[in-house]
Amino acid sequence: MSFSELGLSAKVQAAVASAGYTEPTPIQAQAIPHVLARRDVLGIAQTGTGKTAAFTLPMITMLEEGRARARMPRTLILEPTRELAAQVEENFVKYGVNHKLSVALLIGGVSFGDQDAKLTRGVDVLIATPGRLLDHFERGRLLLTGVELLVIDEADRMLDMGFIPDIERICKMVPFTRQTLFFTATMPPEIQRITEQFLHNPVKVEVSRAASTATTITQRLVRSGKKDFEKRDTLRALIRGAENLKNAIIFCNRKSEVATVYKSLQKHEFSVAALHGDMDQSARMAALAGFRDGKTQLLVASDVAARGLDIPDVSHVFNYDTPHHAEDYVHRIGRTGRAGRLGTAITIVTPEDSKNLSAIEKLIGQSIEWAGDPISEEEASEARRERRGAGGGRGSRAASGRSERSSEERPARRSAEPRPAAPRTGGRPERAERPARAEAAPAPVRDRAPARASSAEEADMSHLPQFLLRPVTYRGK
Ligand code: AMP
Repeated sequence: MSFSELGLSAKVQAAVASAGYTEPTPIQAQAIPHVLARRDVLGIAQTGTGKTAAFTLPMITMLEEGRARARMPRTLILEPTRELAAQVEENFVKYGVNHKLSVALLIGGVSFGDQDAKLTRGVDVLIATPGRLLDHFERGRLLLTGVELLVIDEADRMLDMGFIPDIERICKMVPFTRQTLFFTATMPPEIQRITEQFLHNPVKVEVSRAASTATTITQRLVRSGKKDFEKRDTLRALIRGAENLKNAIIFCNRKSEVATVYKSLQKHEFSVAALHGDMDQSARMAALAGFRDGKTQLLVASDVAARGLDIPDVSHVFNYDTPHHAEDYVHRIGRTGRAGRLGTAITIVTPEDSKNLSAIEKLIGQSIEWAGDPISEEEASEARRERRGAGGGRGSRAASGRSERSSEERPARRSAEPRPAAPRTGGRPERAERPARAEAAPAPVRDRAPARASSAEEADMSHLPQFLLRPVTYRGK
């Protein structure tokens, strides 16, 4: 199949060729002809499958006819995050080189005035996060009655982030007769309901999930001691020993670890940037741009910050932590091996991670090969015993230098002592992330010990060395 068979205009085909793409990906081959035929499309596909071009290319072709009018965008694309919105805009720049399209972004963290001035002149494509779009609408700066085509992208993430009521409102504000393109990676019941309500006789186009298309990704597990300095050591050895490492994303489970790992790599003179949800918009954009342009080789990131980002051509993914949620593993490794390229994903595993690892292997339906010695079943159960023996992990974690983790994992404490919300640059929160303070100033572990310890289990053991916390059965072995 070639791009010339899809019905795209000559100018769009020329732009695709100069972007270096010779063959459409499956989602593009299946969706583009239907979009051009003005059908509603329900696309079930993740990022990394080429889905952005599956809607931008036919849109540019269709927009060749007609003109934009002041304050009345001709097409509207809804994205869950500012980063994704900015990436879609970049796609219009890349594939629209032969056109004079007017594209506007309505996202938090970007000056309201500039966006408003663009709208006044009239835009062909408006790309927005739902909250910011509604802000503009409520101020009367925008008319949605001219929208001919609506794209709802990453709908299941919108659901995760609580944006579905906003989406429903917006769908009712655009003309009933518009064309709708709807993309989601999964189909939970709430999303199914929305598609039934807002799509008219859609063509369903489905491409396989990252979990089953991971054949271009070499996955490996590497064992490490559980202490933070041991894990950082392991990580450095992995980076230094990696074959054909062009660039890498290093995933951590917590934002605080992103900061620590970033600082450590910087100290060891790696070319590195960090990405997490508490950074302000310009810092996030700068970190991403530096990484994309190849100015920084390594990007340390949290799941929330990195999910869905289009960072082309990443050669390696390192999981500094084994993810707590198996789906996060699929999303993480999906950052490499994109659009048919080869990639490597290496996960650092400590004896404490065996349960999470089993859940991952169950989800992806395969066991992941170890590079070097595996963690034995005995070590894993020893780690479990150690945890139990140390009073549910409180004291032992503190003693092993992981007090910060326990401070983040305790929702009861957070709600008992509300902390100030992290400053936001946009009008509405764009992510359901935790407040920055939770890790910037972790509460001292001792705070958490009950005033009167009635049993060894409840006592604060953070001052004890690790070996004193091990259960006796372990020592006898
Ligand atoms: P997306 O799923 O839209 O995030 O795209 C994933 C990556 O695939 C992006 O880096 C695109 O630039 C790239 N891409 C899109 N279409 C193609 C294609 N036909 N051939 C090769 N790469 C592509």
